[in-house]
Amino acid sequence: MLARPGLPSFEYVQAANAAEVHSLMQQSGARLMMGGTDLFPQMREGVCEPETIVDVKHVPGMRDLSYDERLGLNIGAAVTMNQLVRHRDVQAHYPILAQAAHSVASYQLRNRATIGGNVCNASPCADTSPAVMVLEGVMVLQAKGAERNAPAADFVTGPGQTAIEPGEFLAAIRLPAPPAGAVGRYLKLGRSRLGDLSIVGVAVLGYPDPAAASGYRFRIALGSVAPIPLRAPAAEEILAANTPSEETFAAAAEEAMGVATPITDVRAGATYQKMMVRALTIRALRDVWAELAPGKGA
Ligand SMILES: Cc1cc2nc3c(=O)[nH]c(=O)nc-3n(C[C@H](O)[C@H](O)[C@H](O)COP(=O)(O)OP(=O)(O)OC[C@H]3O[C@@H](n4cnc5c(N)ncnc54)[C@H](O)[C@@H]3O)c2cc1C
Repeated sequence: MLARPGLPSFEYVQAANAAEVHSLMQQSGARLMMGGTDLFPQMREGVCEPETIVDVKHVPGMRDLSYDERLGLNIGAAVTMNQLVRHRDVQAHYPILAQAAHSVASYQLRNRATIGGNVCNASPCADTSPAVMVLEGVMVLQAKGAERNAPAADFVTGPGQTAIEPGEFLAAIRLPAPPAGAVGRYLKLGRSRLGDLSIVGVAVLGYPDPAAASGYRFRIALGSVAPIPLRAPAAEEILAANTPSEETFAAAAEEAMGVATPITDVRAGATYQKMMVRALTIRALRDVWAELAPGKGA
């Protein structure tokens, strides 16, 4: 499909509050927008042609970013990648999220691109999705007069598809306080370091847990290697059951590779992607372990 030289015409409306969003969403051909960095390219390519674009960035709460020791992090859906990267509490308590946000495109794009738009666009290669999944985030979905929570693990249901029901919009993402002593790493492979979509994204969060046989638990999520971002439960079980070591990491990475079902596309071949899942998982586990248990070796 050839890119169009410009955007098709549309009406732009800035919603002032949630009630306005709900009433505008009743109109046929209405589409929500935050940064527009996914929506506008899709319109230019003729993927969609909304009659009305409803800008929801200015709805109260959408740009809030606050941390509470007990409740965790509340991220308004319209918080940008650069806001996440710069925020002191994100850096201190959720550095894996800052790493994932920082890996998105260029500085200029990160000034517009929002975390909510990233997850709602539901691309398998969305960089923040694996980080939000290992942090066990919850999506706050607002319908008329009601709010419901959807676990991040079940939020993306297919390429471009989410658990959002008609009449709902994403208002916020809540991340619980991370487990004590948690260390996280997001590693991304792209074709270039300068703002490319990921070929493979691996998020690993590790933390001490005396209840686990190994004394530690690790959560692993993968992006870009299946129709939806995935956790790797069998790999996580190996890490909970066996003392951290090079052999344990290799066995876990093998399992992570096993859950990946990539397809060959313009960015990479499927076999290469699977092998890179294994390589990046080992690398992320080593990094996390070095910080979790300095001097213990693996
Ligand atoms: C040059 C370029 C490079 C890029 N590089 C990367 C990259 O490295 N990594 C990456 O992950 N992404 C990348 N992207 C994709 C994009 O920038 C991100 O996905 C971004 O976070 C989208 O956020 P946005 O606010 O611009 O979303 P928008 O385009 O405003 O919206 C995205 C989708 O979400 C819907 N939507 C908007 N708000 C809501 C809401 N509140 N509730 C429900 N649905 C809503 C829209 O209708 C639309 O379908 C790139 C894009 C470009 C153009």
